[in-house]
Order: sequence, then structure tokens, then C-alpha cells
Amino acid sequence: MSGYLIKAYAKVNLGLDVVKRLPNGYHQVKMVMQSVGICDELTLEKAEDGIILTADSREVPLDGTNLIYRAAKLMREEFGIREGVRIHLQKSIPVAAGMAGGSTDAAATMKGMNRLFGLNVSLNRLMELGVAIGADVPYCILGGTALAEGIGEKLTALPPMPDCLILAAKPEISVSTKYVYEHLDAEGIRHHPDIDGMVEAIGDGNLPGILERMENVLEAVTVPAWPVVGTLKDRMLALGAERSLMSGSGPTVFGIFTGREKAEAACEQLRKEKLAKQVFLTAPAGAQD
Ligand code: ATP
Repeated sequence: MSGYLIKAYAKVNLGLDVVKRLPNGYHQVKMVMQSVGICDELTLEKAEDGIILTADSREVPLDGTNLIYRAAKLMREEFGIREGVRIHLQKSIPVAAGMAGGSTDAAATMKGMNRLFGLNVSLNRLMELGVAIGADVPYCILGGTALAEGIGEKLTALPPMPDCLILAAKPEISVSTKYVYEHLDAEGIRHHPDIDGMVEAIGDGNLPGILERMENVLEAVTVPAWPVVGTLKDRMLALGAERSLMSGSGPTVFGIFTGREKAEAACEQLRKEKLAKQVFLTAPAGAQD
């Protein structure tokens, strides 16, 4: 076969803190990122010319604003690739959900083109380039469990998080990351999550230590604006999650479970309740090559 199939994994934030608003409007963050088993699939093939993007989803744009297109353009320009590329996206990650769907597709495009065109570019170099597309792209290139600082691009790989199950639920609404950050009073945050403590707990393989530090300061904006997010967090706990949290800027909520039976029952029940449009039972995923 002349093409490559590459999986693009979604993430959740086990912890998300905003340190301050920067003069350029970006925010300095401190987050613990975790890849999960929910993934899009991209098929890449060489083409005669240009960037030809198709998808099985109507929820994503297929023009130059798609992050896949932007990543492919960047790779062609940066490495002087003359041939074209044909990319097909099979979308499974909820869109505008706080799970880095677009960023992970961009990351997979960069990694896929690196292989397809035999460029042999290091992951570090791809990560340096990827930040031009989005602050979460470098992390998506790395994957697994990681501490993200700066605007999200300063990464420290962490040991894998201990075994557990993750129930993720995306309500019908879509939340714009831009809206949430614009409405965050970064200087007014009085309580900051203990991200350093979480990093230590991950190093010790201490799941209770991770769970008790799971906090996301962006909930202060998203939960009052979209109350279904708070309702979902409560439902997860009532259905047996050890802890529940909003991922990124939302609206996806995830719950951590330690027993499969309880997690499967909670998944079935949440699907019946229809509070969420999409419900996935998944697990942490490791770094991919
Ligand atoms: P993050 O967690 O990084 O904030 P998100 O999960 O909230 O991201 P995305 O799914 O990346 O959000 O989508 C945000 C917007 O980006 C969508 O409304 C969509 O129009 C646009 N977009 C561009 N390319 C893609 C892509 N490949 N997949 C999904 N959305 C894309």
C-alpha cells in the first residue's frame, strides 16, 4: 500500500491551571495532559499536487481553515515537498469539545507526512513547528501523560498514569475555547490546583493522590454558562466515578473509574439519560510513535 493510516488520539486534562494572562492575550497555563483511547483515523497518500482533504464528518470544515490542511501546508513549505498529499479523515473525537480534536489531527498529519515523504525529522523538531498551528499541537505530537506549561507548548513527559477507566461524555452544546478564555478572570483566581502535587503523584503511581488533585479553573466560566456541564459532573459521581472533571474548556466531562463493571453500568445509564450526545468508555493511552 502506498499510503499510511495514522491514529490521532484525543486528550483530557487531569489538571488545568491558568497562571496569568499574557500581554499578547494568550494565557500562561500549567496543565497535566493525558491521551485517551478515543481517536480519529487519518489516511495519507501521495498525490500529484496540492492538498486534497476529505472527511466522513460534516462537522469539520474541509477548506484551508481545517487544522489538517494547515499542518499539511506547513510541512510542504517547511520541507520543500513538491508532491501533493491526499488525506482522508474519519472523525470520532467530538468537535469543539475540549478534547483537542483539531490539534491531534494536525499532529497526526505532521507525523504522517514525515513518514510518507521519508523526511526523518525528529519529534522535537515537529513539536517546535507544530506550535505555529496551535498551542496543544506539540503535546499531541508527544502524547501520553505530560506536564504542559508556557502556553501549553513547554512539555515534560511523565510516567504513564496508573490503570483506570475513563468515561467521557460530550453534551449537545459546543463551547468555543476562545470564549472561555476571554471570559476568565485570570488575575482573580484565588484557588489554584496543586499541579506540582499531581505530577509527584503520577511519578509515584499514586492514583488517589492524582484523583484528589483533579481540578480545572476553566470550570468557573463554562459551568455557570452551560449548567449541563455541572449536571454531568454530578451524574458521573452519583454513578460511581471516583472523581469527575471538565476537560479543557469543555463541554466534555470525564469521570475516572477503577472497576470495569461499575464503569460499564455508568456508561449504559448515562447513554439512557441523554444528557450527553456522545458517551465513550475508554482508558488512558500511552505515547505513540
Ligand atoms: P481544544 O481542546 O484544543 O480546545 P476542542 O476539542 O475544543 O480543542 P476542536 O475539536 O479542535 O476543539 O474544534 C474547534 C474548531 O476547530 C471546530 O469548531 C472546527 O471548526 C475547527 N477545526 C479545524 N480543523 C478541525 C479538525 N481537524 N477537527 C475538528 N475541528 C477542526
